[in-house]
Formats: sequence, structure tokens, C-alpha cells
Amino acid sequence: MTHIKRLPVDTGTSGWEAISSRSAAMRALEGDVNADWLVVGAGFAGLTAAHRLAELCPGSRIVVMEAREVAKGPAGRNSGFMIDVPHNLAAGEYSSGNAAATALEMAQNRLAIAYAKGIAEQYGMPLETFNPCGKINAAASERGARLNRDFARSLQAAGEPFELYDAARMRDITGSQYYSGGLYTPGAVLIQPANYIRSLAAGLGGQVELYEHSPVVELNKAGGQWHAKSHRGTVRANKVILAVNGHIEDFGHFAGRLLHIFTYASMTAAYTHSQFDRATTGRPMWALLPADPMGATVRKYTEAGLSRIVIRTRFTYDPSVQVSQRRVAAIAEEQRHSFDARFPELKKVPFEFSWAGRLCLSRNSTPAFGELDAGLYSACCENGLGTVKSTLAGMMVAELATGQASEHLRQYQNTPGPNRLPPGPLAWLGVNSVIRWQELRAGKEG
Ligand SMILES: Cc1cc2nc3c(=O)[nH]c(=O)nc-3n(C[C@H](O)[C@H](O)[C@H](O)COP(=O)(O)OP(=O)(O)OC[C@H]3O[C@@H](n4cnc5c(N)ncnc54)[C@H](O)[C@@H]3O)c2cc1C
Repeated sequence: MTHIKRLPVDTGTSGWEAISSRSAAMRALEGDVNADWLVVGAGFAGLTAAHRLAELCPGSRIVVMEAREVAKGPAGRNSGFMIDVPHNLAAGEYSSGNAAATALEMAQNRLAIAYAKGIAEQYGMPLETFNPCGKINAAASERGARLNRDFARSLQAAGEPFELYDAARMRDITGSQYYSGGLYTPGAVLIQPANYIRSLAAGLGGQVELYEHSPVVELNKAGGQWHAKSHRGTVRANKVILAVNGHIEDFGHFAGRLLHIFTYASMTAAYTHSQFDRATTGRPMWALLPADPMGATVRKYTEAGLSRIVIRTRFTYDPSVQVSQRRVAAIAEEQRHSFDARFPELKKVPFEFSWAGRLCLSRNSTPAFGELDAGLYSACCENGLGTVKSTLAGMMVAELATGQASEHLRQYQNTPGPNRLPPGPLAWLGVNSVIRWQELRAGKEG
């Protein structure tokens, strides 16, 4: 029997979640429920797995248990870049694999994005929620410009389309004079993450029973069935999919192999076009990734005439899988400096929301995936790009668990699994030192 002692903690209110509203009623698990399938975790991996299961096994009883509320966790607090081209955070630069590995990664990312597109169409998501507009890697320094040139070369070698922007083009898009150039690639989709994940959860309503505020606190197998106990009820299921990302460790799997990384974001209060026009903050919607992966992601989002800018910076390694409100506030102050340098005219527009969120990385950038025990599956460890990689993991785990044989699944399973980390204190010191060094090296990109 596994007792799950550590439950997810989400520090700070996600601006994306705060400006999104939910359409479906909420319910928690009360009493005992029998199901064919139990999915634990309602993020990208869990809800995509439930969606794929509903396609593959129509008529079967599928239950999802979520410790918190849909969109309150990382799935509703990320920057919303669904990226098709390589985006390897662990390597310190985007393009790092060999040509065959890169081609496979792009094909897998595109498979997941195409599936998400189908979901967006099925549930009628508007363009603000799912926008296939591509993305820009923005450079503010000579180092950033060099990284963009290197990335452009590797894209060219792979036969991938891209466009290089100069400072004037960047200013036309963003209103900011901060950037000296950009690298545009067309295949990325920008989502409003809280809207996307809520629409997906609501859309599943007819076929899937979702229980929120229903953490799994005990998991065991008895009489050929899995029993997942929560505070006020138990789900008994034939098969269980764990889609809890780094919290898989608390279920007794992959211990000593997963890096629990946090990243941080702040969102401004809303402003209108008449307060700050196009010359000041550019087009209604734009989104910049940093040319140096350790720099700042900046995104403008406009809905119903109200615009906001979101800035995401910093990474920390916290094996406790929890960070304090104090840390969020201290990083928000740093983010204010980065923001003011980009948009000096907006100094009086406050940050309305600041938050932190979890990522889960492995040293060798592979997922924690597969059948862990008879009828127990894992779709975890998204390596920093969970909008895409956890969508893919959700699709793949449903196919694995239902016995579908496909080339995609074969290739996806063909990885060695997460490598072991050095012992605790050594890993903590080593990882945090490397991250901090890379962040300082990013300089003006941060
Ligand atoms: C500020 C920020 C910006 C980011 N930007 C991007 C981006 O632009 N693009 C991108 O691809 N990724 C981005 N990410 C990462 C992305 O949010 C994650 O990779 C993604 O949410 C992972 O999806 P998941 O389904 O694997 O896990 P999660 O979204 O973490 O979902 C797992 C769920 O499991 C639940 N859970 C855990 N334990 C239990 C339990 N015992 N019982 C029941 N439920 C449980 C949790 O509450 C959680 O809801 C960002 C993250 C942050 C924080």
C-alpha cells in the first residue's frame, strides 16, 4: 500500500486562471465509485489521457481525480507556448540533439499539437484560447543574437522554415525598443492555458467523471483492482494512469531520478488601447521566448479590449516540491526591473498577479513513462514543455494501456527512462549553481 503524504502546493494566484472562468460545475469525490479507468491528475497529461481513452474505449467508465481544481495547478499557470521545434531547457540552448533525434522530437511535438488542435476544434475554443500563430525567439544582446543565428542554422539544416526579424520589426510587433532582433518559427500555438485546460475538462464532461479537491492519498491493489482512496471516498478501477508529473515520486516511483524545478511569472493589471496605444505596447497579441533559454518569456494578451502583459523568469530546483510566497514576491520584484526595462512607459501599471509553478525534468530529458505494475501506468516528467510533451504522454499512455500498437508508441517508448541524480545535497547545490550561472550569463535576455 502506498500512502501519498505530499500533495501539490501551488504558490500565488495564476493570472491566467484568475482572468478565465469555468463553465462546468465542480464536484468532489464522496463515497465509493467503481470504474474501468482511473486517471490521477487533471493537467495536460491526465485530461488528454482521459480524452484518448474515451475515443478508444467508448462506453467505458472513466474517472479523473484531481487534488486541487482544474487550471489552478501548472496546467493553468504556464506561459502557453505549444512549441514544435526543439526546446531543450536542460541543455541551456534550444537545439542540442543530433539530426535524427531532432527530427523525431519535432514529429512527436507536431503529433501532440495536431491532437490538441483537434480538441480545440471539437470543443469550439476561440482564437484567444488556441492561436496557431507561431512564436518569436527575441534577442536583446549580442549573445542572444548569436544564439538566434545558431538556432537558425540548425533549423535551416533541418529544412525548417523560419524568418529573422530586425529591431524595427520587433518594435512594430511589441512597441518595445528593447529587442535587437528575433527569430520567428511558424509551427507553435499559443494557448490561454487556463481557458484551454478548463474547456478540455468541460468538454469531457459527457464521457468522463471528474472529481476535484479529491487527492489520491492512498493507492493499493486488492482483489485484482486498484483502490485509490481520497479524503471522503474511494475509486476502485481496473487500470490506473498516474498523470501527476513530479508527484509520481510520492507514489513511490522514479525516486532520485526527477528534478523538481520551479519557474515564476507575473501578469500586469489590465489596460486599454486608449491608455497605451500600439506605439507603446504593440499589436494586441504577441509572444516572445528568450533567445537564451534562461532569459525572460514575455507575452501580451488581449481579450474584450483589455490587454495584459505577462513576464516569466527564473528557475529554481526545489526537491521539496514547494516554494514560499516570499520567494514569489522577491522574484516578482526582479521581474519588475526586467519589465520596466522593456516597457518604461508602463511603470505605473502594477503587477496584479505573481505566481510560481512546477516543472519536472530528468537529466537525460526523457519522460517517466510506462507500465509500472500490472494495470498501473505513468505519464509523467514533461521536461519543461508540458503543454506539448504531457499532451503527447497522455495520448501515448492511453494507447499503451489499451494495447494499441503504433509506430508512434514504439518510438515514444524507445527511451532509456530518467537517469539517476547525484545524492541529495550534491544535486541541490550542483543544479541550483548551474541554473544561477546560466541565468547570470543570460544577462540582458533576462
Ligand atoms: C510559469 C510557468 C510557465 C510555463 N510555460 C510553459 C510554456 O510556455 N509551454 C509549456 O509547454 N510548458 C510551460 N510550463 C510547464 C507546464 O505548465 C507543465 O509542463 C505542464 O503543466 C505539465 O503538465 P502535466 O499534466 O504533466 O502536469 P500538471 O499540469 O502539473 O498536472 C498534474 C496534476 O496532478 C495533480 N496531482 C498531483 N498529485 C496528486 C494526487 N496525489 N492526487 C490527485 N491529483 C494530484 C496536480 O494537482 C496537477 O493538477 C510552464 C510552467 C510554469 C510554472
